[in-house]
Amino acid sequence: MDYIRIEGVLILPARVDGSPDVFQCPCFTLVKPSWVPDDNARHCELCSTKFTQLKRRHHCRMCGAVRCGKCCNEKIPLPQLGIEDAERVCDSCRTVTELVTKSRSSIETYLTDSAKGLASFAKHDKHLKKLIELGGMQALITLASTDNSNVLSHVVSGLQSLSTHTVLHRYLADAGAIKAICKILSTVGDSNEQIALDGISSLKTFCSVANLKAKALSDGGMQPVLNLCWSRNDSVVIMSVHTLSQIADNTNTHPAIFDSKMNIVPRLLQLSSCSDEQVQEVALKALAILSTGLPQHKHRIVQENINAENCLLRVLESNPNNPQILCNMACLLANLATNSEDQASLQGMMFVACQKLPSAEANTELLCHLTRALANFAIYKINLSYLINYVVDIIRYGLKSSTVPVQSQSMRLLLSLLVASPARMASLLISEGGTTFFTQLGQLNGLMDAVQTSLANDAPAIAKPL
Ligand SMILES: [Zn+2]
Ligand SMILES: [Zn+2]
Repeated sequence: MDYIRIEGVLILPARVDGSPDVFQCPCFTLVKPSWVPDDNARHCELCSTKFTQLKRRHHCRMCGAVRCGKCCNEKIPLPQLGIEDAERVCDSCRTVTELVTKSRSSIETYLTDSAKGLASFAKHDKHLKKLIELGGMQALITLASTDNSNVLSHVVSGLQSLSTHTVLHRYLADAGAIKAICKILSTVGDSNEQIALDGISSLKTFCSVANLKAKALSDGGMQPVLNLCWSRNDSVVIMSVHTLSQIADNTNTHPAIFDSKMNIVPRLLQLSSCSDEQVQEVALKALAILSTGLPQHKHRIVQENINAENCLLRVLESNPNNPQILCNMACLLANLATNSEDQASLQGMMFVACQKLPSAEANTELLCHLTRALANFAIYKINLSYLINYVVDIIRYGLKSSTVPVQSQSMRLLLSLLVASPARMASLLISEGGTTFFTQLGQLNGLMDAVQTSLANDAPAIAKPL
């Protein structure tokens, strides 16, 4: 038996007889409980009444426990166990069982009662045990197939509450909760703010769990996320773009994101230059992650940025209160800078990145992205004559930084410049106190071996007499 534990309470989740995916098979039947033997029960656990000849024992059909007549008096039809007739259910199982039974009804008000009741049970830790044990989670998921937005709002709110419990993730996913949420979001979408918020917040939770992300995508999680990036509600947008970043963390998803009809790159660029700094931050992060993949996708971002009147340049020039905006922007620029065909389009941003070096001194992450961007630009000849003007700043803020990644990116950058203009660079490095460059050069892993190997052709170790 697979018990789980939530807030110290041991729970035995209901098992479905057959496919666990109740979104696909809504008329599920639960595995019947095994009955506690009569002899094991001396008294009723609910009211402590001792069993005698007159105080008879009764079994609750839902939990299989032995109860007294008073505590097991109610009779309820149990379609969830494949029983259409009303059967004895004990007081401790009654409320959830009634709600699960009602979820099978064709009467609209019953469906609303059921969804509302189950959702409120999902919000309270002390009620969770019965909800999970008696099929309440499955009933909630099957209710997602209605078109009644009132019912759907309760369903998605209940599923959102359940998704906050890590131990339930696998059960929820297997039972079809992600498909249910996607269905609700595609039916109701942005027209209901609370539904959109609850839905996207659950999807965000599923996409943040490494081994559930693939399931979330195969269950249709991408489309509602892309749709909700266009929401008019800032909180929905922030959560949707954040979830998009989690999805895009795997570059295999990039073709679907870039090729989607939802015009996601123009939307992210628009959000990058909006007035809300939190929205800007998440949008730039998503673009930075989307720029880690194929060259044609980087090119798309650059092209769309030109259409957006170079909004990225304006972000880079700005001085936002939120320093993460510039970090994400510099990370994006550094990733885009590797693309040969975009060098001319990116030059304006390269100029600003050079000028930003002194003000980035206190922000290690920013300095790291900026030096990486410049090192990437330095691979291309057309940028060298401009970059060499900033050698002094690169030495002062990059090479002499105490942070290793900043030092290494600066070394990479200076090395490209040294190869391109050996005489000028050598004198600059010496006059500007960049001599540590030469010391560090000698310490680079494998560099001296490579130099020795390359020299060996012209200066062999062994030779015949002349
Ligand atoms: Zn009792
Ligand atoms: Zn019971």
